[in-house]
Amino acid sequence: MTARYETDAHVMGNYGERPLTMVRGEGVYLYDAEGRAYLDFTAGIAVCALGHAHPVVTQAIADQAKTLIHCSNLYQNPWQNRLAARLAELSGLGKAFFCNSGAEANEAAIKLARRFAWQNGEPDRTELVSLPGGFHGRTFGALSITGKSKYHEGFHPLVPGCATPPAWDAVLEAITERTAACFVEVVQGEGGVHPVPVEVLQAIQARCRETGALLVVDEVQTGVGRTGTFFAFEQAGLEPDIVTMAKGLAGGVPIGAVLASDRVAEAFTPGSHGSTFGGNPLATATALAVVGVVSDANFLAHVREAGAYLRQRLEGIGTEVSGLGLMYGITVPDAKAFVAAAAEAGVLVTAVGETRVRFVPPLVVDRVHIDEMADRLAGVAARV
Ligand SMILES: *Cc1c(COP(=O)(O)O)cnc(C)c1O
Repeated sequence: MTARYETDAHVMGNYGERPLTMVRGEGVYLYDAEGRAYLDFTAGIAVCALGHAHPVVTQAIADQAKTLIHCSNLYQNPWQNRLAARLAELSGLGKAFFCNSGAEANEAAIKLARRFAWQNGEPDRTELVSLPGGFHGRTFGALSITGKSKYHEGFHPLVPGCATPPAWDAVLEAITERTAACFVEVVQGEGGVHPVPVEVLQAIQARCRETGALLVVDEVQTGVGRTGTFFAFEQAGLEPDIVTMAKGLAGGVPIGAVLASDRVAEAFTPGSHGSTFGGNPLATATALAVVGVVSDANFLAHVREAGAYLRQRLEGIGTEVSGLGLMYGITVPDAKAFVAAAAEAGVLVTAVGETRVRFVPPLVVDRVHIDEMADRLAGVAARV
């Protein structure tokens, strides 16, 4: 290989400057091209639920790659069927549709909500409501329900009929008889790791029921054990009509899922939606392995315990610590400078806003790693 393949000169510039090149991972550690080890509190943006190179995940991938990687949705495959059944058991929502990312899952949820209204003789029920501070992805529909103007720059006009009121209490008034669905996150991850108060979520659910709008809970980041229960909506006492998933579901193999009640799922009649890769044997077999580990009661208890300890240790590192399970944000004077200084100190974290830094370690993180992280980051906020 010549040197020019070692730079990102031919990769589009949308990710900005990236000084580090990662080549290997093991457990809670990532290793760069120079062989330097980093404690990974990004987990590939809340994706690597079981850390890097977890034996259960690598075995599932290897076994499946030897058996069948892909066969399209022209045919059933047993792994997709089993994963759908397991997610139905865990969510109480009887049907699943599989795709390949979070944005795609939300895109499918938008289409499902629209089509559900249309099929029920309400073709004018087309509007979508979402929360300020929320994030639902970068494709056009998902972008249009993401109320952050920075992400919209240069992409107007967006999908019509999408409303993101300026404040959480204004969301209730925005939900009307013309609303097809309201999208919420239980903890707004990209928005700065801010839990949405349970009373707000409950009021939104009640307003959805009152107006006939569907409640969609975006669990792309919060799902698969991240918040200490398999789904975050369990802790908010919600009964969503639709749940979207992605990130941690297959531990790093691309996958997305839309779960819906039997009643709502009926709107996806044959030919109404699809995905070539969605639910392929490799992704779903890997997801089955990940879900098998994460849905265990002892594992979820570990997430809650390690999370409580992480929260405690973060108190000394930044201010306004908030989050749930193993998903936290802190406020620092300058998030970008903090992230760079943390990497210098051997800890990987991500900026979510000018002054917010996110900690989403692999769910297998333990006290030893959390202590090492806290020791390495001691005093970093004061220096940036
Ligand atoms: C990351 C994220 C998405 C988008 O997922 P992609 O896989 O990047 O398309 C959507 N919703 C939430 C809550 C997310 O955190």
